[in-house]
Order: sequence, then structure tokens, then C-alpha cells
Amino acid sequence: MQLPEVFLNSLEGTPGFDRTAFLLAHQVPSTYVSVRINPFKQPGTKLVFPNFSHITFENVPWSKYGYYLSERPSFTFDPFFHAGLYYVQEASSMFLEQALTQLADLSQPLKILDLSAAPGGKATHIQSLISNDSLLVANEVIKSRCAVLTDNIIKWGSGNVVITNNDPSAFKNLTGYFDVIVVDAPCSGSGLFRKDKEAINEWSLNNVSLCSQRQQRILADVMPALKDDGIMIYSTCSYSKEEDEAIGEWLVQEFEFKSETLKIPSTWGIVESKSKHSTGYRFYPDKLKGEGFFLSCFRKQTTERETKFKPVSVEKASATEKDLIRPWLRNGALELIREDGNLTAVSTALLENYLQLKPVLKIFYKGTVIGQVMKNKLVPHHALAVSTLLLENAPSVEVAYEEAIKFLQRQELQIQPPTQGWQIVRYKNQGLGWINALPNRINNYYPKEMRILKQSL
Ligand code: SAM
Repeated sequence: MQLPEVFLNSLEGTPGFDRTAFLLAHQVPSTYVSVRINPFKQPGTKLVFPNFSHITFENVPWSKYGYYLSERPSFTFDPFFHAGLYYVQEASSMFLEQALTQLADLSQPLKILDLSAAPGGKATHIQSLISNDSLLVANEVIKSRCAVLTDNIIKWGSGNVVITNNDPSAFKNLTGYFDVIVVDAPCSGSGLFRKDKEAINEWSLNNVSLCSQRQQRILADVMPALKDDGIMIYSTCSYSKEEDEAIGEWLVQEFEFKSETLKIPSTWGIVESKSKHSTGYRFYPDKLKGEGFFLSCFRKQTTERETKFKPVSVEKASATEKDLIRPWLRNGALELIREDGNLTAVSTALLENYLQLKPVLKIFYKGTVIGQVMKNKLVPHHALAVSTLLLENAPSVEVAYEEAIKFLQRQELQIQPPTQGWQIVRYKNQGLGWINALPNRINNYYPKEMRILKQSL
């Protein structure tokens, strides 16, 4: 792997940069594979990986849910991957957990914005850490990337999320709304050179400078939406000071932000980078098991007044619709609303926020879509099959590994369901999706766009 001289020279003097060790680490492609488990589906923090019994695990030091795997399995052919039991995520990125747990009171109902959320690594991580009555707004400006973000959020199964498709400037109108804003900024991407050689050809000093300007624009656009005393978490996967420390210095000097520090053991290998007004945390692949990453945290010091919104109204489900849905849902403080023909379950706390956000933002998805009522019957949506709202003893059929893969490939199934009608296909008790068993055939309702395309390993 040949790294541009101009790139290496630009990193000289950067805290923690050791040219020889850095070059050595870049002579081999990244071999670390890490996953973060879904606490809603794998209770506790222990990784259960039944199809890969030969693989050994090791904890990612800075995340209670993160594990390194001894080798990369075929995630595509693991039904647990499709059931949302874990998310494959680069280990350094999981450091977000330290910022959230050390700086925010996660036991409280918080409003959190993940501004650049696709494909959903940080958003699903945030979901795992916040309380049930908290709200996560997962935003993605590029519409085509909202679909993969939504798929990943649906798979995660917890419904306290609103997915939006807005430019950062749209959040200006939500003055003082969020307790925490996470800006995982688009960047020049040098931290991922070991994973993506193509990125090396796209790197230039000019691009670093353009990215730095864009990062400032994004932060300036979104900062009014943070409450007084709220936390701004800023991260990139770039090693360049212009996109990392310089942004922190700018935030503290130009705006009313105070830099926050985190407590981290020196054994983790993370470099604490102290500038004149701010502190950031650097990840180098020659110092720890992870790729290049940077994170810094700030507390807002203004007296921003929270905007008072006039909430819009929404149609609630009728008594008949509620009766049709009841056999599928766990009891809880849920509201059932009807929009665009879909019935959606939202927590009471989420509904209030949703009705405030609706007139301001472009909402792509929210809560848990339950399905549509047609001819007095519920046609269930995929989101319900993988949701934590689904009743444990809802009609379902347990399948063996081969049938589970066939189901995920959207093929015909050779199974004998115990009853007719809509039911969940489960593999080792984990919901994968829906079938409708008719007297003469079984219809496979696994979403077409999510199906496994490969025929075999
Ligand atoms: N947070 C994501 C995760 O953990 O899976 C990764 C986010 S990625 C580093 C940066 C994101 O910024 C991309 O999804 C990209 O589409 C989005 N983006 C690109 N231009 C942007 C802009 N001008 N404002 C905000 N986000 C932007």
C-alpha cells in the first residue's frame, strides 16, 4: 500500500503520529473484524454466535457491546445477522459509547440527533444506550442512503426513532431542542485507507480543506438545535488536523462551546490530543485494534430558548383496527396512528415529539410500522416481524438453518406450518420475517430489496 508523500508530510507534528509505525501498519490491509451486539435481542452483553462456533471473541475495550472476531465469517449466510442480533462495525467508531455514557445521563428521557446517520452504525449504537422514553432522530441528507439506514434501524427492533431526510440547515428551526447532537461528519476518509485503497487516490490537500469548510458549515447549521448545556459530539475518520483539532478550536473560539474531556485508560492506546482550547481523541491502527478515527466533545454554554412548537394532529387507529393488531403486540404505553394507509406504533413519548417534528422536517420513517388493514384483516409489515414489540407467542413457525436461508433468499419453503394465515418465520427463536400459509401454498413475504442474492457461500 503506497501512501502519498504529501499526505504523510501533512501529518508530521500531529499528536500521536509515528511515521514508521504508521507506514508499517499500512503495509497490511486491515484484518480486524468487529461486531456490536443488539442488547434488545441478545440480553446481557454476551455475544451469541451459534453458526460460527469455531470463531473466538475478544471484547472491544471501549464498548460493552463490542467484540473482535478471530476471523470474518460470511455474515450474509448468518440468519442472526438478518434478524438484527448484531451490527458489523469498525471498532474505533464504537468509542462513541464513552462520550455518551460519560457526558450524558442516559437514564433520563433525552432527545438525541444523529445528524449524518446512514448506514446506521452510530444510530443503532445510540439506540442501544438510551432509555425507552428517549427519542433518537436519525437524519441522512442523501435520500438514496435513507433506505439502508431505515433497514438497519428496523432490524435493530426498538421503535423510539424518527428517521429524517434533511439538510443540516433544516435543524436551525428546532432551536434548543436536542440534549445531544452527534455529528459523524463526511470527511476526507484517510482513516479508512487500510480498508479502502480507492480512497487513497481520492485524497488531496484540497479535498481536506473542502471537507474542513463543509464540516464547519454543517456544525454552524445544526448548533442552534442544541439545548443550553447540551452535548455536541463530533467525529471523523480523517487523520487531518484541519478536519479534527482545528474544528474543535474553531467551535470553542467562535461559539459558546466548552471542550469536554473523557476518562480513558492509557492501556486502550487512544491518543489524547490537547490543543489550546480543546481536547480530542485520536485512533491510530499502529496503536490499537481499529482504524483511523477522531472524536471530540463539547458542551454548549448559551442560554438558548427552546422553541415551542404547535404540534400537528394525527389520525389514531380505530377500535376495530386496534382489535386486529392486539394479537400481535406486547402490552405497553403505545399509541397506534394511521398515516399513508399504514398503521404505526409509537410510544406515547415519541408521539408527542413526532407531532412537533412533523411540520419542520422531512420524515422518512418513524416508530414501528405494524401494517395495513385490508378487508378487515391485518397485512403485517416486515418491521413488526423483527420488532421488540412483537408478542413472544405470536403465531410463528420455527425453521432449521437451510430453510431460514431459503426464506431470506425469498425462495419457496418446504415446511409444514402448524396453522394457516400470517405467521413469523423464526430461526432459533429469532424473528426473520413473514409468511402467509394458504391451503395450497406458502407465500414468502421477506422484503424483496433485502433478500440474499447469493445462491451459496
Ligand atoms: N454515522 C454513520 C454510521 O456510523 O453508520 C456514518 C456517517 S458517514 C461518516 C457521513 C455521512 O454524512 C454520510 O452518510 C453522508 O451521506 C453524510 N453527508 C454527506 N454530505 C453531508 C452534508 N453536507 N451534511 C450532512 N451530512 C452529509
